[in-house]
Amino acid sequence: MLDKRHFYINGAWVDPIAGRDMEVIDPSTEDACAVISLGGQADTDAAVAAAKSALPAWMHSDPAERLAAVQRIYDIYKRRAPEMAQAISLEMGAPIDLASSSQVGAGLGHIKNFIRAFDQIRFVESLGDHAPDDRIIREAVGVCALITPWNWPMNQVTLKVIPALLAGCTMILKPSEIAPLSSILWSEILDEAELPKGVYNMVNGDGPGVGTQLSCHKDVEMVSFTGSTRAGIAISKNAADTLKRVHLELGGKGANLIFADADEKAVKRGVIHCFNNTGQSCNAPTRMLVQRELYDSAIETAREVAEKTAVGPASEPGRHIGPVVSQAQFDKIQDLIQAGISEGARLVAGGLGRPEGMNRGYFVRPTVFADVSNDMTIAREEIFGPVLSILPFDSEDDAVRIANDTVYGLTNYVQSQDGARRNRMARLLRAGMIEMNGQSRGAGSPFGGMKQSGNGREGGVWGIEDFLEIKSVSGWDSTAG
Ligand code: NAD
Repeated sequence: MLDKRHFYINGAWVDPIAGRDMEVIDPSTEDACAVISLGGQADTDAAVAAAKSALPAWMHSDPAERLAAVQRIYDIYKRRAPEMAQAISLEMGAPIDLASSSQVGAGLGHIKNFIRAFDQIRFVESLGDHAPDDRIIREAVGVCALITPWNWPMNQVTLKVIPALLAGCTMILKPSEIAPLSSILWSEILDEAELPKGVYNMVNGDGPGVGTQLSCHKDVEMVSFTGSTRAGIAISKNAADTLKRVHLELGGKGANLIFADADEKAVKRGVIHCFNNTGQSCNAPTRMLVQRELYDSAIETAREVAEKTAVGPASEPGRHIGPVVSQAQFDKIQDLIQAGISEGARLVAGGLGRPEGMNRGYFVRPTVFADVSNDMTIAREEIFGPVLSILPFDSEDDAVRIANDTVYGLTNYVQSQDGARRNRMARLLRAGMIEMNGQSRGAGSPFGGMKQSGNGREGGVWGIEDFLEIKSVSGWDSTAG
């Protein structure tokens, strides 16, 4: 079993001061594969102190120095990509091919996009010709706590660590205790990149421990969090006493509006997208809204796709889906499938229990419900498993009303050949992101939600700006540089 008890504080791997052991479970086998330490207050304090003392030099460093550091990180991350894929696959169950391509690739893409976006950040700019002695200065927010989940580990870590570094912030990363191995490797990468001591720190811990300690800490100026709405609320409350800036990327219940004039692959694409990463994505299109004319054939297609979706261990190559991350997630998904059945939705594929022939590992049957109404639990709660709900609609108004009738507002999807309709939908849907006709959003576009899906935006220019304060200055001497 791997011993991964150390934390990375002030440029060195250190023993925990107040740690207790926790086993990391391989979700494909349910066996422990590593042991980590969950830190305590003394560990949190040590990491925050390191970040605080590194802040003045880093925030006033030459932006070119920070960019060069990120470029080094990019090169090392790329070199260590195969190890990273193994770590992610082992800790959270993404099949190795998905881990190598999408999971590791997401991190690589984000770093590259941030390097490109950095060019657009003006650290000092003039207010305008009407006020020639005014300057707008952008400066680092300060010491940041970065709290990440287990579902897309390097996607989320790079979306926080890289812009924080570029902005001139110093930081403490607290990765998910369920999937900490990738972040430990990430910390090795940052160590190899030779950042000044204390700029980047990593402490493992759980929500009630290190997560809460960071959210409450008087020397932390910002918390950037991705995870559940439940934890987002707790963090916001804990951060309120010290009035920290809180950036939240939370859950979603994405609607995928499939109009009768959608392209013929729209339904299949929607089901595959919903099941991607075993349904463990905040932006998964989990509510498929289908126009009545297409409803019956869409259900049939969804059933076929679900029945063809192979489920297997993370270590096996191929395009199957893996297990869900933990026993707790497995149980939660089973309860929600049961709720779907009890509340009268029509089970079209999958259902309770493991797929046939599997009796170990957190494997869930790819599941499709039809005749779901938007007030059912499975249409309202984020399931975070391979479970699709199909709902019928009649008109555009109907579709918009159902899609927007949720506490979430992260990503919605529209499938239609009618360009004017697509543009109308893009304006009317209440979500931070609208993806249409299967076209992914471009590199460096902002990621984030409305309503209870959170606030702020990650990625590209917006992602860097999130870690910057605006300072308004008069009486600036432009001859003095
Ligand atoms: P979680 O929100 O409990 O955990 C995410 C991170 O937050 C972890 O690092 C965790 O240690 C930390 N955390 C938890 N409680 C905290 C607290 N009170 N203060 C500070 N930090 C805290 O998510 P989970 O338990 O791993 O998953 C539960 C549900 O969350 C899932 O079923 C899913 O619906 C949702 N989720 C959403 C996303 C997303 O990207 N939106 C990601 C993961 C999980």
